[in-house]
Amino acid sequence: MIDFTTPFFTIYNSYQIFINKFKVNYFKIQNQNEKSVDNSNAQLIEQSQIEPCRSCTDFQTFNRMRRQEYSQTQVPLVPLESNKKETKRIEKQRDDCPLDKDELGRSTWKLLHTIAATYSDKPSAEEQCNTEQFIKLLPKVYPCETCANDFSEILKYHQPDVSSQKAFAHWMCEVHNMVNKKLKKPLFDCSKVNERWRDGWIDGHCD
Ligand SMILES: Cc1cc2nc3c(=O)[nH]c(=O)nc-3n(C[C@H](O)[C@H](O)[C@H](O)COP(=O)(O)OP(=O)(O)OC[C@H]3O[C@@H](n4cnc5c(N)ncnc54)[C@H](O)[C@@H]3O)c2cc1C
Repeated sequence: MIDFTTPFFTIYNSYQIFINKFKVNYFKIQNQNEKSVDNSNAQLIEQSQIEPCRSCTDFQTFNRMRRQEYSQTQVPLVPLESNKKETKRIEKQRDDCPLDKDELGRSTWKLLHTIAATYSDKPSAEEQCNTEQFIKLLPKVYPCETCANDFSEILKYHQPDVSSQKAFAHWMCEVHNMVNKKLKKPLFDCSKVNERWRDGWIDGHCD
C-alpha cells in the first residue's frame, strides 16, 4: 500500500529546516546590526569627546586631544614620538597662537579686574547700568561654554555690586574666588584687590 503521508512529512520537514535556518541567520544579522549600532554610537561619543576646542580646554589637553585625533587618522600633525625636541617645542605655548581656555580666562580676568580697578568712586546711574549690563552679557558671548554656564549660575545669586569702585572691585574678587574654589585653586585675599589691580604692591615691585 502506498503511504501518501510520507512525501508530506518530507516536505514539511524540509520546510521546518529552512525556517529554522532562516531564523538563525535572521537573528544573527539582527544582533550584528545591533552591535554595529552600539559601536557607531560609541565612536560618535568618542569623536565628540575628542573634538578639539581650544577655548574650552587648556593648552596641554587640547594638544593631547589633537595628537590623539591625528594618530587615529594615521596622519601625524608633527613627528611626535620620533622627535622629542619637536614635542617639547609644541608643548610650550607660544604667544602668537589662538587662546586656550586658561589663557582666555587669565586675559578675561585681567580685563575684568582692570575695569573694576578703574571704575568710578561715585559712578553715574548710566555708568552703573552699562557696567552691570556688560557683566551680565559676558556669559552670553564668552567662548568657553562650561565657564559661561557656571558664571551665569554665579551671577544669579551674586548680582554685580556696581555702587562704587571699592564695592565693584570687591565683588569681582569674590566671584573670581568662586571660580577659583570650583577649580581648587588658592583663594585670593580680597582686602588686597586694589593693591593687585590698581595701585601696585606696597613693597613697590610694580613701580
Ligand atoms: C568668567 C570666567 C569663568 C571661568 N570659568 C572656568 C571654568 O568653569 N572652568 C575652567 O577650567 N576655567 C574657567 N575659567 C578660567 C580660570 O578662571 C582661569 O582663568 C584659568 O584656569 C587660568 O588660571 P590662572 O591660575 O592662570 O589664574 P587666573 O584665575 O586666571 O587669575 C589671574 C590672576 O588674577 C589674580 N587673582 C586670582 N584670584 C583672584 C581674585 N579672586 N581676585 C583678584 N585677583 C585674583 C592672580 O594674580 C592671578 O594670577 C574662567 C574664567 C573666567 C573669566
